[in-house]
Parts: sequence; structure tokens; C-alpha cells
Amino acid sequence: MTSGVVIAGGGLAAQRCAEALRRGGWEGPLRIVGEEAMAPYDRPPLSKGFLSGDLDPAEIALRPAGWHAEQGVELLLGDRASGLDPDRRLLLLASGATLPFEHLVIATGGRARELPGAAGLANVHRLRSIDDAARLRAALLPGARLAVLGAGLIGQEVAATASARGVRVTLIEAEPLPLARALHPRLASWLVDLQRAHGVDVRLGTRLERLESGDSRLEALHLSDGSRLEVDALLVAIGVVPATGWVGADVHQLARAPHIHVAGDASGANHWEAAVHQGRAAAGAILGGAAPAPALTSWWSDVHGVRLQGLGDPVGSDALVVDGDPRGRSFTAVALRRGSPVAALAAGRPRELPRLRKLLTDVHEPAKEAA
Ligand SMILES: Cc1cc2nc3c(=O)[nH]c(=O)nc-3n(C[C@H](O)[C@H](O)[C@H](O)COP(=O)(O)OP(=O)(O)OC[C@H]3O[C@@H](n4cnc5c(N)ncnc54)[C@H](O)[C@@H]3O)c2cc1C
Repeated sequence: MTSGVVIAGGGLAAQRCAEALRRGGWEGPLRIVGEEAMAPYDRPPLSKGFLSGDLDPAEIALRPAGWHAEQGVELLLGDRASGLDPDRRLLLLASGATLPFEHLVIATGGRARELPGAAGLANVHRLRSIDDAARLRAALLPGARLAVLGAGLIGQEVAATASARGVRVTLIEAEPLPLARALHPRLASWLVDLQRAHGVDVRLGTRLERLESGDSRLEALHLSDGSRLEVDALLVAIGVVPATGWVGADVHQLARAPHIHVAGDASGANHWEAAVHQGRAAAGAILGGAAPAPALTSWWSDVHGVRLQGLGDPVGSDALVVDGDPRGRSFTAVALRRGSPVAALAAGRPRELPRLRKLLTDVHEPAKEAA
């Protein structure tokens, strides 16, 4: 078998890497190994339009059917990377096959962190794949009681999507405020108020103490506020860990070799734009180009019809400048540290994003040049 480029993982980073390779003139063999049955698709709709039933699988595919064949990108789906021999440049697959490579891109994404004691309970969900989303959607019946453990972006979005379907949602967060790494505390409070205004029961500073189950189903949660919460379903949304256990070594260490690259959530990135950027950067490195500048942290979310777009890192900020009225659900906010902008949020104002991005990058440019 001829070697060429092998991409382990069949998600966003893999797809963008393959596109950039073909666009950049890579004419050699190009293979994507993905454990899911579906060709690369977009995950953000899994907690939004796909979960609400507004989008079907074809609408979340990253490329139309036939694109991979046309571009000579071989899709090896339903098989998983299970081991690696970096010196002999061999990728081992669960099916027993061995793929030689000239370059390997590790793009196996992340997996949802598991809740101890919940394995085997049929009504306990995680949300990472289209299959997970289809299963969760089936549980979102009007009047059903859903608990969401973890008020990160996925927890927030599922709470909003589910409550819009008439589900009674309790959103449980161990910290006093959610999303500390993405939102200034005042903005996190605003988001909590938005959830509550839509009937979501948000419990902050509250921990899960114990699961009460019977007949392979979760019956109730015992929480640190002393309550016993009866549920029909639980979504565990307590974070993502890189799905790189199969590599058997530290991926960042391995990626120091010129023929091994890591991109997307497998690198610990956990945001859509980072996966795009790193997938393209891996392609650039394979093609021999200069490494692109690291991208500014950026994310977006849709909660109760408000588009939230965040940039930068607000941790340690000491001031917040808000333009607009948060009660009107359309405003921008810039977090400052010692007078310099370090993070920004556009709520319901997508057109402001380029300006905010420029504000943050202009501030960081001189520092980069001086370094
Ligand atoms: C429900 C949900 C909502 C999200 N919403 C947003 C959002 O609004 N904004 C935002 O910025 N980001 C969002 N994200 C995050 C964003 O989708 C991810 O950062 C992005 O998908 C990462 O791309 P990736 O290619 O690194 O990983 P993934 O998209 O996870 O793709 C990895 C693929 O590799 C496969 N795989 C895993 N292990 C193996 C193996 N050993 N062998 C072969 N294949 C394997 C996986 O099954 C998967 O198909 C969301 C994520 C989820 C799950």
C-alpha cells in the first residue's frame, strides 16, 4: 500500500486538513480513518438545530456526498485507530489493518468526560456524536424532566433547546458561576438570568452527591443543596478529554517529529475555530509552508435565540465595558486587564465581531513582535 498522508479521526479538523492539502497541491494518497459511520460532519448543531429536529443529518455534513471520492480522499469509516508505531510510520486499526504513512495527522477529537457510577443506566446521556444526539432528542418529550449536569456551553445549549421543546430542565453547576474561562462573571450572571427567564431551574454552587437508580434506569439525583431531584433523563456535560488514549504516548511530544501532527480537540483545543485553524496548519506543515500565527481563542453559542460570540480569555480581567442593554439581548462587552482588552463578547450582534476581533488582535500584535 502506498503511504501518503493518513488522518486518524474523521471530524472537522480532519476534513479541513484534507481540503487544505488538496487545495495546496498535495497529490499523493490521502486517507481519513473515522470510527463513526458518517462522513465528517459538524458537531455544533448537535446541541442546537439537530437536537431541536430542525436539521437532518445531510444538513450537518461538512461536504456534500461524493466530495471525498471526487477529491481522491479515501474514507475508511467504521474503523478506529488503535495503535501507532511512529518509528516505522505505521498506524494500526481496530479491524487489524495496518496503514503505512509518510505523514500522520492525529485528529481524533475529544470524548465526553464520564460520570462515575452512571455506566449502564439507559436514561443517562452524553453528547458528542450524532448517535448521542439522536438518542437524547428522543428523550426530550414535552413535560419530561431533564437534569443537565455541567453548565458549560453544551449544557447551556441543551438546556435552552430542551426547554424550548417543553421539557422541564434543571441545570446543575458545581461552581458559583458557569463558564469562568469564557465569560466575565457579570456576563455569566447575565446568561444564568437568561436561562431562568425561560424557565430553566439553574442550581449554582451545587454538586451531585449520589445517583439513585433501579432497573438500569436513573430515578433521582441527590444534590448538595439537600434536594432529591426526580428525573426522566440526565445529560452529563462535565467536560471533554482528548480522545488520544489509543496513541499510547503524549501526542504533543510525538508531534515534535516532522511527520506527526496533531489538530483539533485531540490537542486539547475544544473549539470549532481552533479545529479549523489547526487542521489547516497541519496541512501547511505537511506542504512545507510557514507555521501560521496561533489563532485568537474564539467560540460561539446559541442560547434561547441569542447568538453569543466570544473572543479571548477573560480570566484575571479587572473591568468590563458594556455597550448596549443586556436586558434587550443585544450588546457587546469587552473585558479589560490593566486597561487592555483581553476578551470580548457579542450577544445578538454578529456584525460587531470583526471589530472586536481587530480590537483584541491589535492589542496583542505589538507584544508578539516584541517577543
Ligand atoms: C454538541 C456539541 C456542540 C458544540 N458546539 C460548539 C459551538 O457552538 N461552538 C464551538 O466553537 N464549538 C462547539 N463544539 C466543539 C466543536 O464541535 C469541536 O471543537 C470540533 O468538532 C473539534 O473537531 P475535531 O475534528 O478535533 O474533533 P471531532 O469533531 O470530535 O472529530 C473527531 C472524530 O474522530 C473520531 N475518532 C475518535 N477516536 C477515533 C479513533 N481512535 N480512530 C478513528 N476515529 C476516531 C470521532 O468519532 C470523531 O468522529 C461543540 C461540540 C459538541 C460535541
